[in-house]
Amino acid sequence: MGFLRPDFLLFICLFVLFASVIALNRITQTHKVYLAFHFVMMLWPLGQFAVRTTDFPVYQLFYLNLSFVALSLLGPGWLIFVLFLTQRSHLLKSWRLGAYLAPALVCMASVVWNPDHAFLKPVAGLYDQREYGALFWLLTLLQFAYFSFALIIMFQAIRTVRSANERKQLATTLVGMFVLTVFAAIDLMVNVLLANWLPTIPGLMSLGILLSDICFVVAIYRYGMFDILSMAQRDLFHHLAMGIVVVDENAKVLEVNRSAAPFVRLSKGDAFEMEKFLAPLQTKGEVNEFLFQYRHHPGERMQTEISLGEGAGRHVSIQISPVLDHFKQAIGRVITFHDVTELRKLVDEMNRKNEALHERNLELIAIQEELFRVNQKLEQMAVTDGLTGCYNRRFLMHQLEHEVMLNARHRIPFSIFLFDIDFFKQINDRYGHVIGDEVIRATTDAVRSELRRTDIFARYGGEEFTVYLPHTSRQQAEVLADRIMRAVADNVVHAGGDRVSITISMGIVSEEDDYLRIDNAKEYLRDLFSRADAALYVAKNEGRNRIVYA
Ligand code: GH3
Ligand code: MG
Ligand code: MG
Repeated sequence: MGFLRPDFLLFICLFVLFASVIALNRITQTHKVYLAFHFVMMLWPLGQFAVRTTDFPVYQLFYLNLSFVALSLLGPGWLIFVLFLTQRSHLLKSWRLGAYLAPALVCMASVVWNPDHAFLKPVAGLYDQREYGALFWLLTLLQFAYFSFALIIMFQAIRTVRSANERKQLATTLVGMFVLTVFAAIDLMVNVLLANWLPTIPGLMSLGILLSDICFVVAIYRYGMFDILSMAQRDLFHHLAMGIVVVDENAKVLEVNRSAAPFVRLSKGDAFEMEKFLAPLQTKGEVNEFLFQYRHHPGERMQTEISLGEGAGRHVSIQISPVLDHFKQAIGRVITFHDVTELRKLVDEMNRKNEALHERNLELIAIQEELFRVNQKLEQMAVTDGLTGCYNRRFLMHQLEHEVMLNARHRIPFSIFLFDIDFFKQINDRYGHVIGDEVIRATTDAVRSELRRTDIFARYGGEEFTVYLPHTSRQQAEVLADRIMRAVADNVVHAGGDRVSITISMGIVSEEDDYLRIDNAKEYLRDLFSRADAALYVAKNEGRNRIVYA
């Protein structure tokens, strides 16, 4: 009870604080185990030293207890550390951890209880010289048993580990374990078994602990045990929105993250059966094909999308990537589950909209085509005469304004016909306007049949018409005019039972002046047509049915 001093209590408080900081800090479990182990190992030399600093048996016993309690924890400490190091920490769950610790707890109890001095006995009432009892040997035996078990695990791990780096790490740790075992054995021999014959060598066990710890530290730091990256990777793995399951080649689950829970109920060590998972969907052809691929091509990447639940259920994208070793052999798989319901909805919606848009587009194209046709018709109507299909006078004048300038500039000859149906009033009077219209139409048809494609045939007014003949000299115009006169005369129109034959009178202007200069097209045209009109007037006066040149 003499230990319950304020200083000692404060030491306990500080220790609890230290332990909580380590326990609550964001470092790997391996890190925490190592630190706890290291702390326990430090207690051995401390206790061994302290026991020699006092002559009070109570204190001596306390320090010795401290040493041996720490020693009891050395074996399980090693074992747990090795399990973490070889990534077998899952073996520490529930009852197994209890089983691993139970022998050590028995040791600790026997150290503290020390029934009938069965663990150790003071010599001459003091503990700096002592005799060890049966329980001490039990403790020693158990520690060696722990070491042996840890060694077996290490050897197993070294055989299965594939990365050279990890193998080096394990080898360094093995060296540490050997060193400690050797020093522990020498200490036992020299300082306990042969204590009566050999001089005491202090600090052997402590030295062994130090050397083995150095091996630990080398293993940990040199080979990146406390890798921040691996912690980040694990964090990432567990916090990713997509479900991830990692399986080995026998489909045993090695790791599964939280986001996988809505898709599959799995824990580490379970078997993942894709067949069972997809069983409700196996009627679908593509699912069967996917399953076939999954079964027979473990080394290939594959992807599929399935719908879970009835009707508008969830859409899940499943991706499978193989994990390959150095020889490109598949040693496992990473299966990811990604809920793509929202995405699918958006895509469907977009497709629907696209289709509607496409239909609307087709309608618009049809409307556009219709509009184009109507426009063409309107344009046509704007420039032509409804009765005869000839161009109207406005259009002709508009065209000519441009044409005559061109002709003058390039010295191109051209001619103009201006003709009028003879005695047309009589036809109107005799047969009426409808037949009159018919006669006008028949006459223009006869004229048109003689014209060339480039000639512009226009209604000048009433039953008076004009033809613009580009690239036409007077000589050529004469020939054409004769043909027209004949065609009109030969053209017999049936009017109310009678056969009506009509004639026309024509005035012609031919422009062949090589030095023609036009300053004002409108004025020039007015003059041109007044010349043609004058010629036509002459033709009428001279008896009709004839051609007069201006
Ligand atoms: P001329 O030999 O001197 O030319 O004698 P004409 O009787 O033909 O006299 P004019 O050329 O002056 O007569 C024009 C007549 O043509 C007057 C008008 O009633 C008639 N006319 C003008 N345009 C049309 C039309 O579009 N349809 C019909 N049916 N008659 C028209
Ligand atoms: Mg007339
Ligand atoms: Mg007339």
